[in-house]
Amino acid sequence: MAAASSSHSVAPRRKVSRHRGEGQWAAGHLTPLNGNEQLKKDDDGLNVRTRIETIYSKRGFHSIDPNDLRGRFRWWGLYTQRRPGIDGGRTGLLEPEELEDEYFMMRVRVTGGRLTTEQLRVIGEVSQTYARGSADITDRQNIQFHWVRIEDVPAIWERLESVGLSTTEACGDCPRGMLGSPVAGVAEDEIIDGTAALEEIARRYIGDPRFSNLPRKYKTAVSGSPLLDVAHEINDISFVGVVHPEHGPGFDLWVGGGLSTNPRFGVRLGAWVPEADVPEVWEAVTSVFRDYGYRRLRNRARLKFLVADWGAEKFRQVVEDEYLGRKLTDGPAPEMPARVWRDHIGVHRQKDGRFYVGFAPRVGRMDGSLLTKVAELAEEHGSGRVSTTVEQKMIILDVPGDRVDSLVDALEALDLRVKPSPFRRGTMACTGIEFCKLAIVETKERGSELIDELERRLPTFDEPLTININGCPNACARIQTADIGLKGQLVTDDQGNQVGGYQVHLGGALGLEPSFGRKVRGLKVTSAELPDYIERVLKRFQAERQDGEH
Ligand code: SF4
Repeated sequence: MAAASSSHSVAPRRKVSRHRGEGQWAAGHLTPLNGNEQLKKDDDGLNVRTRIETIYSKRGFHSIDPNDLRGRFRWWGLYTQRRPGIDGGRTGLLEPEELEDEYFMMRVRVTGGRLTTEQLRVIGEVSQTYARGSADITDRQNIQFHWVRIEDVPAIWERLESVGLSTTEACGDCPRGMLGSPVAGVAEDEIIDGTAALEEIARRYIGDPRFSNLPRKYKTAVSGSPLLDVAHEINDISFVGVVHPEHGPGFDLWVGGGLSTNPRFGVRLGAWVPEADVPEVWEAVTSVFRDYGYRRLRNRARLKFLVADWGAEKFRQVVEDEYLGRKLTDGPAPEMPARVWRDHIGVHRQKDGRFYVGFAPRVGRMDGSLLTKVAELAEEHGSGRVSTTVEQKMIILDVPGDRVDSLVDALEALDLRVKPSPFRRGTMACTGIEFCKLAIVETKERGSELIDELERRLPTFDEPLTININGCPNACARIQTADIGLKGQLVTDDQGNQVGGYQVHLGGALGLEPSFGRKVRGLKVTSAELPDYIERVLKRFQAERQDGEH
């Protein structure tokens, strides 16, 4: 188990008697207060890898200890997937062993969304060899396989790790996949390139047992793009590019963002962090979370609850006094981005005169053979670098001007749209009932059909628009921050039957004017009614909008 105190702490712990009931290690609560905490104390999630390699992969699915299967496997990016054919009405009613299949979802970390075509080819090969061709792009820039057998996991790791990819801590109560600007180092308008800082955080701390038992999942984002292209507002810790009037480019530090229940935007600590200090400051903030984070109740364990209780001033003071041993430099807030879309779709000039080309698959759904084709195109037209975005999209980098048109034509021919409709561009969907054990409704297929239907019905609609679809009340597709957020649940249709549908949230946004969508009471639609409903909303918006209204 990770030690309760950081090796970098430099001042005695303050007494936090007010929070003794929250299970904070720093308040002396080293005895686990719930099953999850007990599981983590019994054995570090990182240790399950050895058992997978030496026992489970050899003896098969039924040899797996349930505490590993439904607990520690997550530390290696593995979840059991939903057994096919179980309808959403039975989610939550069945025992785990009735709901889960003997196959796994496997999540591959893609730090900052940066991939070489060599890595992309290996992902394509793993997908086709071991995952029935599946390979979705997630809204955290990761790649997700399905249909993985436990017997094949060691071989998959070997292939991935041979090209510098891993599934280490891709899920679990630890530092999960880390977001970065997908055009870091190349964008003409970049304030600062966060790549080196982000990669250093990952190199130092992923797989580090000091941070493998956090109170809950922990999400990191670093971007020096003025488009604020990593959804920094809803990560646990974010470093956002700013220019300090005296010290020049660096990062503005944000903490405590997160969605799910009780969504909260992160808050600025008012601190400017130079590039070289980013890993050290990440360690200090993460140590505060580890030591002071709430561990009694899972639904109060994200960093956002501690930040909400302490406020930015106290949080910064604890970071400085107890972990860094020095004061941080005050700094400015980022400017609000000039564009509403921040997904880098389309053709854009790079600072070196070449171009990057962003394209939109449907709701992040790719497959192994398509990813291999993207790798081929990136090698034929660019330098062999690609990236994934936090909107489930992709970018090919470093394309010379005279190769842009042929790349655009080739991508469009694969139904990877460089000039997508707002519906293709702005729709995201989580995994949903196809594979997710928590899902109540279908999402990916529904999202794809919705795109086609809206393109047919509203061919001239040309406004920035986000439609995010979740298969359950969780927030994997960020429904609270979409113009139209759809939360999967059972609803009652005209005949009084319980059918799949969505609770509607309207008016959420990140970026220019961040806000959480409003849940209008009683505003629920069945899956079948969805295109009619969205068509009505958008037509009414166009008819009644005021000047400049998004
Ligand atoms: Fe599964 Fe719900 Fe997350 Fe969708 S939002 S992937 S259904 S847990």
